[in-house]
Amino acid sequence: MATIDGLPPLRDVINTHGLSARKSLGQNFLLDLNLTAKIARQAGDLTGCDVLEVGPGPGGLTRGLLSEGARRVLAIEKDRRCLPALAEIADHYPGRLQVIEGDALEINPLAYLTPPIRICSNLPYNVGTELLVRWLTPPEWPPFWQSLTLMFQREVAERIVATPGSKAYGRLALLVSWRAEARIAINLPPEAFTPPPKVSSAVVHLTALPEPRYPADPKVLERVVAQAFNQRRKMLRAALKGLVPDLEDRLIASGIQPTDRAETVGLEQFCALARNVKAS
Ligand code: SAM
Repeated sequence: MATIDGLPPLRDVINTHGLSARKSLGQNFLLDLNLTAKIARQAGDLTGCDVLEVGPGPGGLTRGLLSEGARRVLAIEKDRRCLPALAEIADHYPGRLQVIEGDALEINPLAYLTPPIRICSNLPYNVGTELLVRWLTPPEWPPFWQSLTLMFQREVAERIVATPGSKAYGRLALLVSWRAEARIAINLPPEAFTPPPKVSSAVVHLTALPEPRYPADPKVLERVVAQAFNQRRKMLRAALKGLVPDLEDRLIASGIQPTDRAETVGLEQFCALARNVKAS
């Protein structure tokens, strides 16, 4: 059967190369090339961009990124069984796909990429949040990437885009909204994957802001937010006890009532509190 890019259908690729899915590697593959092209389109205009893809697997999303015009794709894959399938894609798109075998948590991709850079991945769920937090907390801001288009479990996607007052609101939402614009771009049922995972998924699209929304020292902000949400149901005068002297005055000066709970306090107030704590 013909495919949109002239390469074999992904089911054939999986059979030819014996790519039975391994749970330990978070392998839930996308085999519909229309869907992978749709995800690639969520990443924005790829022409003129290098794209970093973590976990290409049999290459469905990789093919979407290339057919949607990415200048170059750098793909980091831990499972060496996938390399022959990825080599076929590299042959089909000469000079546009580089594959590195290894663990994305241990490889610094920067040496292989030329700006502008976008990141687009159907991430292995076991490393997804860790990679997102790393990409959001580089030593310097703006980061090396312009946008992140990433697949997460639905529940994690909701935590990424959550707003104050909702159950999903917490550290992740604050970290994200401090430095990026984020939205859920596509919701996907388990059946979209082979094999289907137990939970639904969502593609989240994040764009890096040129500078954080409000000034704050990243480490102090992280410390304040972590302590506040550690006991999210407690009033902040109790949850943040011991953080600084004169806590209640500092909360009020930051626009926060000492009786407020972390889950109702917005980013602007947390940043004001972080500045106040740092000044102390
Ligand atoms: N992108 C493919 C797709 O959409 O069909 C595969 C997605 S699958 C959810 C995750 C992929 O990440 C698998 O191919 C797996 O082998 C790979 N992987 C898992 N852990 C990894 C890691 N630490 N570094 C790089 N790749 C990893």
